[in-house]
Amino acid sequence: MSFHPFSTRAVVWFKRDLRVHDHAPLVAALSHTDAIGLFVVEPEWLNSPECDASHVDFALACVAELREALAARGLPLVVRVGTMLEVLTQLHNELAFTHLLSHEETGTGWSYTRDVAVGRWCRGQQVVWQEFTQTGVVRRMRSRSGWAGRWQARMETPLQLLHAEFTPATSIAQGDLPTLGSLGLQAHHKTLQPAGERAARRTLKSFLQERAYDYRKALSSPLSASEGCSRLSPHLAFGTLSLRTVHQATEVAIANTPDRTMAYGLRGFAGRLRWHCHFMQKLEDEPDIEFHNFARACDGLREEAFNPDHFAAWCEGRTGYPMVDACMRSLRATGWLNFRMRAMLVSFASYQLWLHWREPGLFLARQFLDFEPGIHWSQMQMQSGTTGINTLRMYSPTKQAQDQDPQGVFIRRWVSELSKVPLPYLAEPWKMDISVQRMAGCLIGHDYPAPVVDDKAAMKAAKDRLYGLRETKQARA
Ligand SMILES: Cc1cc2nc3c(=O)[nH]c(=O)nc-3n(C[C@H](O)[C@H](O)[C@H](O)COP(=O)(O)OP(=O)(O)OC[C@H]3O[C@@H](n4cnc5c(N)ncnc54)[C@H](O)[C@@H]3O)c2cc1C
Repeated sequence: MSFHPFSTRAVVWFKRDLRVHDHAPLVAALSHTDAIGLFVVEPEWLNSPECDASHVDFALACVAELREALAARGLPLVVRVGTMLEVLTQLHNELAFTHLLSHEETGTGWSYTRDVAVGRWCRGQQVVWQEFTQTGVVRRMRSRSGWAGRWQARMETPLQLLHAEFTPATSIAQGDLPTLGSLGLQAHHKTLQPAGERAARRTLKSFLQERAYDYRKALSSPLSASEGCSRLSPHLAFGTLSLRTVHQATEVAIANTPDRTMAYGLRGFAGRLRWHCHFMQKLEDEPDIEFHNFARACDGLREEAFNPDHFAAWCEGRTGYPMVDACMRSLRATGWLNFRMRAMLVSFASYQLWLHWREPGLFLARQFLDFEPGIHWSQMQMQSGTTGINTLRMYSPTKQAQDQDPQGVFIRRWVSELSKVPLPYLAEPWKMDISVQRMAGCLIGHDYPAPVVDDKAAMKAAKDRLYGLRETKQARA
């Protein structure tokens, strides 16, 4: 393809930023002679242990919408399947592009390794790779002091909006969008949230205008949280909305609402947007927390004790603890669960079942449509008591059932075997005597599992071990 020597040609590399609004690389591309967009389905992603077909399905639906939105603005979106180096090499042969424009990413080991390779490739080809920030995460940060101020400043910078259209200059095959089948993935059976930038903006609007009213009250129960929380997490994870857009819209909503309850809900939500980046920053600073205990004094604590039968029962929602099983089955069907119930699932795996957090963390990463590496691995360690700095939070599934599902609606919805169990026994069905079990059509150990462990004894043993460990010189150090 002919190309004037003083022209510049940009490739806008879309990753977890599948949007048109507030997209700095896209805006930067306007100043080049011509540009194309690029989305690559990378085998390293598909093969990573955190990836699930539901993630790929969601991403492809976002890409389909993005392609239309970009086409309307004159920018072709090329979609390829392959490693970044293969794709970049091939594209460079075809287009001789001069600039690669993308957002920074705080990902797991594979994306870091990929970025190092892309950096080396760009230097070798004299392609300028320009990376833009899109969250509050600060790269190569020396000290945390002043972080909150930097976060605020980034969130308050004006949105990067396209002020002109692209003039199509390159003709290039955009490529058909792959399907799950063509990628060798099995179709999943989850009811996913709607994908794409339009759905993201609708969700944001309905939360800020109506649903935020009950936010703080609705947060903890899985019954109310599915409506009462923002449900923006997959959109933030795949970047169909920028965090800055959400932050700024929330501040406007707070300023404009005359209603104190609404303002209270919105403020609670606004604080969590900061947590989003606070947790991502932990992974940026200590990439090792994806694999190793944050507090190395915890090494060896659980590794040898891993019980595969307990792990399987937890994954399948057959632990014999109805609240745990209901949450797991609901998560597996929908790809989402509220914070408190995520924490309870991890607490049960880590304390009652004494499982090391890595395998449960990988399993949950595949279930959560909103998998965000920095939040996920930090939270997995916090809820397992391996950070060494946070108070140990151990959740009793029976108490959580009584507090968050007092009428048993959630349990009955997701654990159909228990549908006729009388309410007083619903959180602890093993306490039914045999005549009640028969009446309820639920024989424990036959229709529904007996508890895999004794909850109270297991929690006490876990507490003794962890508090004992915290007393050691090594842990204090
Ligand atoms: C073990 C565990 C793993 C988790 N893994 C993830 C993950 O992979 N991806 C993810 O987005 N969230 C994760 N969370 C945090 C939280 O549960 C989800 O962000 C939240 O449930 C998403 O629903 P929402 O968007 O309706 O949340 P809202 O309550 O409406 O919150 C809005 C946004 O704030 C951020 N946020 C909320 N709570 C937290 C928190 N505790 N820490 C950090 N950011 C927060 C998220 O970006 C969220 O989308 C995890 C929590 C636990 C306990």
